[in-house]
Amino acid sequence: MSGKGAGAPRTVIVVGAGIVGLSTAWFLQKYGVGVTVVERDTVASGSSWGNAGWISPGLAIPLNEPGVLGNGIRAMLDPLAPLSVSPTTDTGLLHFLASFALNSRQSAWERALRGNVPLSSACLDAFQELTEGGVSAKVESSPITALFTAEKHAARLLMELDTAREAGLPLTYAALEGDAARAGVPLASQAVRAGVRIDGQSHVNPGLFTHALADAVRERGGSVVEKFRVTGVEARDGGFRLRSSHGETESADAVVAATGAWLGRQARPWGVNVPLRAGRGYSFMVPTERPVPGPVYLPEVRVACTPHGEGVRVAGTMEFRDIDAPPRGERIRAITDSASPYLDGVDLNRRTDEWVGSRPVTSDGLPLVGATRIPGLYVAGGHGMWGLTHGPITGRLLARAVATGSLPPALRPMDPTR
Ligand SMILES: Cc1cc2nc3c(=O)[nH]c(=O)nc-3n(C[C@H](O)[C@H](O)[C@H](O)COP(=O)(O)OP(=O)(O)OC[C@H]3O[C@@H](n4cnc5c(N)ncnc54)[C@H](O)[C@@H]3O)c2cc1C
Repeated sequence: MSGKGAGAPRTVIVVGAGIVGLSTAWFLQKYGVGVTVVERDTVASGSSWGNAGWISPGLAIPLNEPGVLGNGIRAMLDPLAPLSVSPTTDTGLLHFLASFALNSRQSAWERALRGNVPLSSACLDAFQELTEGGVSAKVESSPITALFTAEKHAARLLMELDTAREAGLPLTYAALEGDAARAGVPLASQAVRAGVRIDGQSHVNPGLFTHALADAVRERGGSVVEKFRVTGVEARDGGFRLRSSHGETESADAVVAATGAWLGRQARPWGVNVPLRAGRGYSFMVPTERPVPGPVYLPEVRVACTPHGEGVRVAGTMEFRDIDAPPRGERIRAITDSASPYLDGVDLNRRTDEWVGSRPVTSDGLPLVGATRIPGLYVAGGHGMWGLTHGPITGRLLARAVATGSLPPALRPMDPTR
């Protein structure tokens, strides 16, 4: 890879061992930068563990769609709706929701859509660079099939895909009639009346992939320090000293904070004011009677099913609650109740590996990637529903910015101080 720019950091500490932080570390190593990744818990202990595992440039559409406001009002009234917002007096959450509502206009959503296109267009290529460069984890290519009980909802997804293609996404998809949808997805029930097949997508076991990435960073000479919760970031002697909750320290020339849904509060003192909150989602594994050839999407109830081993991982719901709140059984029930009419040959009661994780959701549908107001201190995060898909390409672009001092145009709309 081309060399570092003059004045480039020799060493960088990345905070957060999720898909975004580890990808950034791996690509920084390509420029000869020495990296240390510090993690408050263990590798992939955040949302990079139990997510649906889709690498889906075709569906990576920002959350702040115009229709989402109506869903939000329904969510206030129905605790089992796919989107859940508890009545709250948390002023931070109220501020986030107000800002999200403002950004749910068609023009703001299209701006977010266009801003994400460069990430989506190159995301599969960045995954390929990682696996060809020694990250030993499997990336499976296959279409994603969306199933619907109402044809008008399939038509709505087709319209969204048309808009995404017009915005520049390289997308191939096909409408399916009920019979064809059920033939392509052996688990689809008779209730399924229509489908949409989105070609050219991929999926992984996200936890295994993130661990393989951490192994690769170590093999290339980096260190990954677990149980190091950063509680202080101090600029000193032209570099930085980070302090952990146990009093240990790590020093480097520059810092990248890639702390997922925790980033919102941490980055405010660095001039990062775009509201970011935890959009918590749940997943679990269930066995299936028949093999599942590829991921299945149920847009009407916002549930994702991904083949893993002998069964499928079922993932869904979005609840805006405190990041550290305990998991809620009724959210898992909301997923099983809403998904079961679509599925046949899946016992949704034989669940294992129940998990809750926090998507880092920004109020304007764009990630936060780049320099903060503190020279040498960068952030990388806020990818919401699509941080696995966009993690490696984010790492590639940010590493270039940090190591060469020149900002790739794709990162301009993601300026964290916007
Ligand atoms: C149910 C569900 C399904 C999803 N499905 C998909 C999907 O199919 N495809 C897709 O692209 N995306 C999906 N996502 C979104 C995706 O999981 C996230 O966007 C992505 O994992 C974010 O990665 P990250 O590295 O930014 O954050 P994380 O993986 O959360 O990593 C941040 C890390 O920072 C650490 N940290 C925080 N604070 C500190 C501190 N002070 N000191 C040290 N370390 C700290 C945390 O412990 C954590 O390990 C899904 C999410 C959910 C919840």
